[in-house]
Amino acid sequence: MNDGKICVSICAETADEFIENIKRAEEYADVIELRFDCLEPNQIYKTLARLNSKKPLLATFRPKEQGGKRNINYEKRKIFWQNLPEKFDFADLEFDLESEICNLKLQKIFSFHDFSGVPENLDEIYKNLSGAIKIAVQAEDIADSIAVWKLLERAKSENKKIIPIAMGASGAWTRILGLAHGAFMTYASLDAGKETARGQISARDLIETYCVKELNENTEIYGVIGNPVVHSVSPSMHNAAFKFHNLDAVYIPFEIKNLDEFIKKFIRKETREIDLNFKGFSVTIPHKQAIIEYLDETDETAKTIGAVNTVKIENGKLYGCNTDAQGFIEPLKNYGDLKKAKIAVLGAGGAARACIYALKKENADVTIFARDINKAESLAKEFDASFADFKFQMTNFEDFDVLVNATPLGMKGELETETPVLAEQIESVKLVYDLVYNPFQTRLMTEADKANVPKIGGLAMLVAQASAQQKIWTELDAPLNEMSRAALVKLKQ
Ligand code: NAP
Repeated sequence: MNDGKICVSICAETADEFIENIKRAEEYADVIELRFDCLEPNQIYKTLARLNSKKPLLATFRPKEQGGKRNINYEKRKIFWQNLPEKFDFADLEFDLESEICNLKLQKIFSFHDFSGVPENLDEIYKNLSGAIKIAVQAEDIADSIAVWKLLERAKSENKKIIPIAMGASGAWTRILGLAHGAFMTYASLDAGKETARGQISARDLIETYCVKELNENTEIYGVIGNPVVHSVSPSMHNAAFKFHNLDAVYIPFEIKNLDEFIKKFIRKETREIDLNFKGFSVTIPHKQAIIEYLDETDETAKTIGAVNTVKIENGKLYGCNTDAQGFIEPLKNYGDLKKAKIAVLGAGGAARACIYALKKENADVTIFARDINKAESLAKEFDASFADFKFQMTNFEDFDVLVNATPLGMKGELETETPVLAEQIESVKLVYDLVYNPFQTRLMTEADKANVPKIGGLAMLVAQASAQQKIWTELDAPLNEMSRAALVKLKQ
């Protein structure tokens, strides 16, 4: 347990909404930040008059040029602070007000924000801020978060309280790991989707998914590296598994554009610029192939599939493997022997490669259907499978036992209402396996229901590949039920 605080930030336009949000925030917050700059000006004093909370309160009244919501001139800010009632424990102040509010009897946090990047004179800015300080810079990629993170070490040696934040998805890890490394506070949103700053994480996720107050400097760090990863279900699944086994480990989304910089500056002992206790990571789009050149060893399965989705770090060495094939085949094997089973795989991308590899190992009879027939043909050659020289929309799959969808058709977003095939095309197959896991029930699965055909959804593969990763990292059997439940809760959010 560290002694950092979770500060839930409230931003609303009316007094009623503000007061209601404060009540809700009390469940998770150690401190509640009230962003008075969000309120309609005529609501500020109404809100102040009604304020009453059992949690310590932090007042913020930030002008637009420093990241606040409204244009507030210097005079109005001065008057606000000079008339603040004694209901507050903390004030988040901009540096220019320092001389005006020396009489405020609460803990002052002087803050600096740069929404455009990382200023070159960050050290000077740090030196000029006295007392407890908050420094927030914008990270466009993960390496941009290093400079602000390094201030933590410095502040610790100088006995200075600091909240270092790298804003943006690439800096979200600083919000998760800050408390473990001595940050005084971390800011959180009340609800997912109601962030008051870029990259902010909900208080519920900080507590329930990442357990941020239980982390320390020696906590083992795992994560998913990719771009984008903010909506990944993997942190929910893996953290549920770590919690089940009571391990001092955390799994974090690392949004990474430049893979080379990440490996050099965060991972490799010889070159890294900050010292985090990385033990492994999942790899997702677009780094699954590119990661291979950075590894000390890659296993045969990953080499044949041509992609690594799992890296384990041991004694400074990076070992890569692929659990997608195992994750795909495990749920399917529950339905019987696959030897000579006739399987139609729709799609010829990365997921299809892992499926075909696993199916061929089981001696299944695989036919690839793809919108680009040349891709289907070359994949078929590579894996000694068959391919169809016509589109899957034109086919009745009466000769097949299983139909696997390895295209994104049906995936949340623009493709959600789409299906690769209709009920009447699949009436005679014995099983439909849709790799798409979000939404939980896809349009294809609804077509399978209509045709009265059993189905497997993509969540089964997602959980099975993650549980294989857990086994590689921790050498323990993963708790499948806990991981599935955590993934489902996240998907429904
Ligand atoms: P990918 O490498 O981009 O391959 C997608 C394949 O689908 C390609 O063959 C692509 O054709 C084809 N395709 C794309 N849009 C299409 C459309 N509108 N109509 C017909 N075909 C289309 O993607 P991936 O990594 O293989 O992933 C495919 C799906 O599997 C995704 O929905 C992903 O979420 C899911 N998946 C699930 C799991 C799991 O654990 N459940 C794991 C991995 C992937 P072109 O090559 O012609 O573009």
